[in-house]
Amino acid sequence: DANRMRIKDKSDRATVELVLDNRTRLFLYSFINSGKISEIFGCVSAGKEANVYYATDTSMNEFAIKIYKTSILIFKDRNRYVEGEFRFRKGYSKHNPRKMVRMWAEKEMRNLRRLRLAGIPCPEPIAVKQNVLLMSFLGKDGVPAPRLKDVVFETNTNDFYVETVKLMRDIYHKCHLVHSDFSEYNLLYYNDQIQVIDVSQSVEHDHPQALYFLRRDCANINDFFKKNGATLLTVQGMFNYITDLTDMTHEERWEKAKNTEEISDEVFKEIYIPRTLQEIDFDQKNPELFEKLTGVKADSDTDESDSSDEDSQEEGEEEENEEEENEEEPEESGQKK
Ligand code: ADP
Ligand code: MG
Repeated sequence: DANRMRIKDKSDRATVELVLDNRTRLFLYSFINSGKISEIFGCVSAGKEANVYYATDTSMNEFAIKIYKTSILIFKDRNRYVEGEFRFRKGYSKHNPRKMVRMWAEKEMRNLRRLRLAGIPCPEPIAVKQNVLLMSFLGKDGVPAPRLKDVVFETNTNDFYVETVKLMRDIYHKCHLVHSDFSEYNLLYYNDQIQVIDVSQSVEHDHPQALYFLRRDCANINDFFKKNGATLLTVQGMFNYITDLTDMTHEERWEKAKNTEEISDEVFKEIYIPRTLQEIDFDQKNPELFEKLTGVKADSDTDESDSSDEDSQEEGEEEENEEEENEEEPEESGQKK
């Protein structure tokens, strides 16, 4: 079967076969031909939206290869994450699943790069080709680092909690992103640090629903650490810690967040979060209040599309013209898997 690709299995060196569509196989070969990797081994993770494989280069550097499936478009209601994003305005073709999947892979590449630039622990993105993303491997000798979910906490659960919340703050303030699927499944413990993965659905912090996604991330993390017996901030306290704009030390900010108990978690999870000054319905528009509530600087005439324009320019060079795509091969003959 021409759609199969022989790869070696790490454990027994036996040959296993990856069932891939023609194009995906081609992209994998292009990574091999360009010398980025020399061997692909078995599957590290088979998810609903993506499979992750382990690979090495000739110097035995280790890599993870994430291959997005078209089902990525079904499971997470991904359109919500694209809404209001400038760079998707033209390019997001709702009729071509292959292009859509490619956009998610490219988005993950860009977001990982942004995290790396800000010094946030995460895999190093190496290359992306259509639905295939090559990145550094978090783990050793083919064994991936444990997810936070699999870590056995001893007496230090609180330290992990604080480290996690600090990470969320850094992602917000240094990268201007909200992860939007931040959970014990998408955090790996590697090199004595919590590292962030799975950022294809992360959004700009001024995305229309960014603060809702952030609040949900906060609630998920609190649920997880609650099960593990950590001393928690309230969800609102955590949200405030992450978005707070005032100049404080971590200790001061944490102390302040601990004292945020005006409303219960249940109420906070339901309240309306204003996103723009225009939405604030108080006596008069109040930039300080806006900043206090959202952590987003309320520069007088912030036009959403302006800021996204800048963003898309900075990323512009990577944006290939869909029409100039020259690696197009004949349409697959229907046999995908
Ligand atoms: P999804 O959740 O969409 O299937 P993830 O990016 O979360 O995709 O990856 C799935 C799993 O693959 C992770 O939980 C992790 O175990 C493993 N994984 C992903 N990226 C890496 C990496 N760079 N290094 C090591 N393991 C990884
Ligand atoms: Mg994941």
